[in-house]
Amino acid sequence: MKLILLGAPGAGKGTQAEIICDRLGIPAISTGNIIREAIKTGTEAGLKAKSYVDSGGLVPDEIVVDMLKERLAQDDCKDGYVLDGFPRNVAQAQTLDKMGVVIDRVIDIEVSDERIVNRMSGRRVCSSCGSSYHTVYKAPVKKPGFCDRCGGELTIRSDDKPETVRERLNVYHDQTEPLKDYYHAAGKLFIVEGQEELEDTTKLTLAAIEA
Ligand code: ADP
Ligand code: ZN
Repeated sequence: MKLILLGAPGAGKGTQAEIICDRLGIPAISTGNIIREAIKTGTEAGLKAKSYVDSGGLVPDEIVVDMLKERLAQDDCKDGYVLDGFPRNVAQAQTLDKMGVVIDRVIDIEVSDERIVNRMSGRRVCSSCGSSYHTVYKAPVKKPGFCDRCGGELTIRSDDKPETVRERLNVYHDQTEPLKDYYHAAGKLFIVEGQEELEDTTKLTLAAIEA
């Protein structure tokens, strides 16, 4: 099973991707997490990517595509995966096609811009494993401020500040949203209305995968 999760920044793709992966036993591949990790470690690609992430823009395709190829070549990807945050423009989708990657379904999680902006302030991410949390919708259950999965400290992403969120939303509408047409034309698009409660979105997402 190869899935793509589409949706605006903060629509809940990362959270749903983690849940689907636990359920289907396939890895969630977040290019955002891979990029943040590369920035943290200070790799050459990470250094190149940093200014784009900080400004809310897209990292150049060739950098992200190289990172993705390296990740997909790993052993755990052989039975499928969930892509979260890739592709983010039509050129990246065409690259996937050229790589011979056959996607089964594309799940688009729809959330209004207004709700996105309201939600972003509560977003937290594990500084160690990259798992996503939210102060209201998905607080850690074991120890406040620390990751349930690995115990790492939860932090606020630097690109979650309101100005950058607005820029990321612009980029989403301009560059990523056209992918809905691209995958609709391929007969692969499934739309999920993002719900107030995370569990309700999960139910709809799993229904879209299993339908
Ligand atoms: P969100 O879904 O909340 O926007 P991500 O973690 O997916 O966050 O992405 C964070 C940032 O990483 C993006 O704003 C962008 O700069 C960069 N990025 C992630 N994936 C891609 C991609 N496929 N192509 C280009 N840039 C990307
Ligand atoms: Zn963690």
